Amino acid sequence: MYKNFIEHKGIIDMNIHEYQAKALLERFGVAVPKGIAAMSVDEAVAAVDELPGPLYVVKAQIHAGGRGAGHFTDNPTGKGGVRLCKSAEDVKAAAEAMVGKVLVTKQTGPEGKEVQRLYVTDGVDIEKEYYCSVLLDRETGRVTFMVSTEGGMDIEEVAEKTPEKIVKTSIDPATGMSGFHARKLAFALGLSGNAVKSAVKFFMNLYKCFIELDASIVEINPMILVNDEVMALDAKMNFDENALFRHADVAALRDETEEDPNEKIAKDWELSYVRLDGNIGCMVNGAGLAMSTMDIIKLYGGEPANFLDVGGGATKERVTTAFKIILSDPNVEGILVNIFGGIMRCDVIAEGVIAAAKEVNLNVPLVVRLEGTNVEQGKKLIAESGLDVISANDLDDAARKVVDATKGANKAA
Ligand code: ADP
Ligand code: MG
Repeated sequence: MYKNFIEHKGIIDMNIHEYQAKALLERFGVAVPKGIAAMSVDEAVAAVDELPGPLYVVKAQIHAGGRGAGHFTDNPTGKGGVRLCKSAEDVKAAAEAMVGKVLVTKQTGPEGKEVQRLYVTDGVDIEKEYYCSVLLDRETGRVTFMVSTEGGMDIEEVAEKTPEKIVKTSIDPATGMSGFHARKLAFALGLSGNAVKSAVKFFMNLYKCFIELDASIVEINPMILVNDEVMALDAKMNFDENALFRHADVAALRDETEEDPNEKIAKDWELSYVRLDGNIGCMVNGAGLAMSTMDIIKLYGGEPANFLDVGGGATKERVTTAFKIILSDPNVEGILVNIFGGIMRCDVIAEGVIAAAKEVNLNVPLVVRLEGTNVEQGKKLIAESGLDVISANDLDDAARKVVDATKGANKAA
């Protein structure tokens, strides 16, 4: 549930590009094919001289996976963001087709992402592709390896259709990772001989990299086998925002152009905002209440457009900013404000909501549910504001009303 909220990259986690992740992996002794980052077509062509050849792969660098199977908006039936090339001319053509163009993948959403950076890498003769990731498993509370023989595929799909093909091993934080963990993983993948040795080194170093850099996920899809050597052919790494202060070098890898500008504005205003796929904008105080609000919207058949926690000090300015952020999402067809006035008084919140709604020229249905200190004054202010606000008595009532109001919007559209 709320997949992109849980997996969100930007507020909870910082995401980096494949080429940056590979440089970090290399630092910890994890094998990767040789590659060079390029910021332009010329740089991509120049990279060819630095690589062994005879095959090259040009890879679009965006903060999303599924690039190989993706497409560019200017050529929907053409090739994706990972292209095999046989010459400098090929590399030039591939780079020209990518730089400045918008790449749509399963993970970018239909609007896609503009490609501003490329990675030109050695074309590898792959024997077999595997899947490998290291992440914190919330069930066991431990750092966990997930491996599968089904490499290069969408792992969510593997998990759904053939879960037996995913092998998990969790690591006890007190003892850390040992050779036997790594061997167990290698055998689970059916490796033998020298490939086991290479895989053990790969897994041990991957773990070290994950722990020492305070990563929140390292995903290698595919991890490949070439001449008995295990390598990372693709790499995704996210980092725990709360630990970034310990890693200035990692923090410097942030690419703000990849992040949702609204999420940055939200962060500057200390609002927790995560955009989702639905059409009902939510403005709530408290993360728990925000989650329950999203749940109850879904219960009544709606889809939340965002998670937004305005926090305890919901001033008029912050409420206005929150409104602007919610409304900048073109999918929003209605807004539910659900505020519990504890320390904050409901009349103050009502003033904020009224001022904000007037300032942003609100043009979608607004449902407001207030509860707590001075709730009667708050409701009175809203009723007398002249704004077309739908007032709700409780959370159920509010969710039902906003879902109904947006259903109308759907029909009208
Ligand atoms: P994405 O996951 O974003 O589609 P990948 O880096 O995983 O991007 O590449 C997709 C596929 O392209 C891989 O599964 C692999 O088959 C192929 N590929 C990627 N890089 C190389 C390379 N350097 N040499 C050969 N094939 C590659
Ligand atoms: Mg991949």
